Amino acid sequence: MKSISILGSTGSIGTQTLDVIRSHPKEFRAIALSGFNEIETIQSQVKEFRPKLFWVGAEEKIGLLERQFPDTRFVSGKKGLVEVATFEESDTVIGAIVGFAGLRPTVEAIKQGKSIGLANKETLVAGGEIVMDLVRKKKVPLLPIDSEHSALFQCLNGENRGEVKRMILTCSGGPFKFKKRQELEGITASQALAHPTWSMGGKITIDSATLVNKGLEVIEAKWLYDMPLERIETILHPQSIVHSMVEFVDGSTIAQLGTHDMRLPIQYALSYPKRLPNSFPKLDLEKTQKLEFYPIDHETFPGITYAKRALSTGGSMPCAINAANEIAVHAFLNGKIKFLQIFDCV
Ligand code: NAD
Ligand code: MG
Repeated sequence: MKSISILGSTGSIGTQTLDVIRSHPKEFRAIALSGFNEIETIQSQVKEFRPKLFWVGAEEKIGLLERQFPDTRFVSGKKGLVEVATFEESDTVIGAIVGFAGLRPTVEAIKQGKSIGLANKETLVAGGEIVMDLVRKKKVPLLPIDSEHSALFQCLNGENRGEVKRMILTCSGGPFKFKKRQELEGITASQALAHPTWSMGGKITIDSATLVNKGLEVIEAKWLYDMPLERIETILHPQSIVHSMVEFVDGSTIAQLGTHDMRLPIQYALSYPKRLPNSFPKLDLEKTQKLEFYPIDHETFPGITYAKRALSTGGSMPCAINAANEIAVHAFLNGKIKFLQIFDCV
């Protein structure tokens, strides 16, 4: 049985990780969890999973939680989050916090030799070089949860990395995929939050509407697979069924396909190298019928170009672009800037 710490158990990836754990009670147990201020979710997770440790961002709620659940230890503050990441009894840490806040606890988990399942791409965008150096030094497995990177990982299984010609990340295109710049002028937050294929947290949903998400994912792929930038490509694929592809030097392309259900890459990161049966919906290509691919309109959606430029500049530029994007998305969601100003800010 693997004991799991989840950083960000109350979010979209966090709750789906608990769903995987719930489906495999003999394989996995949730031992340490963390949530920011989603009190009802925190209460129901403590009730169901009885974790030994729970980090809560809203410090003022801790007294109440301690009275309700005397068998769980509640902590808060930056140090408390590191406690969840390095909890002695946990074997694997799932990084499912959104944004830069996920970097520090992930680094501390690696230092303690924990296996990592990483959804929090901002960790690699902001600190890829440092994180991957540490991963190699500590010889810890770092399994990607981002669906494209899990796909690449599966396409590369048993292959020689030197024989890879290019990696092709697929991109759903978000809700505005075929729109031109002038049509994006008055986009509201609720329009941008309506993703056509995936249901996710607010920040990544906006990143998917601007396609900055795909830029962040190019940087993520570079660090995970040590691939030169010119061999990482992106393609529009509205159905989100082919999660990514690898082309090899002989011209053969291997792709990984699946439903748009994040529980698949989450489960694979937890069970690797094994595959476990489950009751999640299965791919039905007779129903899907069409798999389409188009070039990405980089002029209207310059996020990938910006990310590549940041990566070739190197140093702390990817960290800066990540910070700018986090601030801009937050400002857009709070009605302080317009959709297109996100690009200006980045
Ligand atoms: P979410 O907003 O649904 O959840 C975020 C989690 O982080 C919550 O548990 C919240 O309590 C916690 N959190 C937020 N701010 C925090 C802070 N400052 N300190 C500590 N905890 C904090 O986000 P999500 O959609 O689950 O995404 C999580 C990460 O996974 C992101 O980096 C995202 O890019 C990545 N990801 C998500 C999906 C998806 O389908 N949701 C897919 C691929 C990658
Ligand atoms: Mg992704």
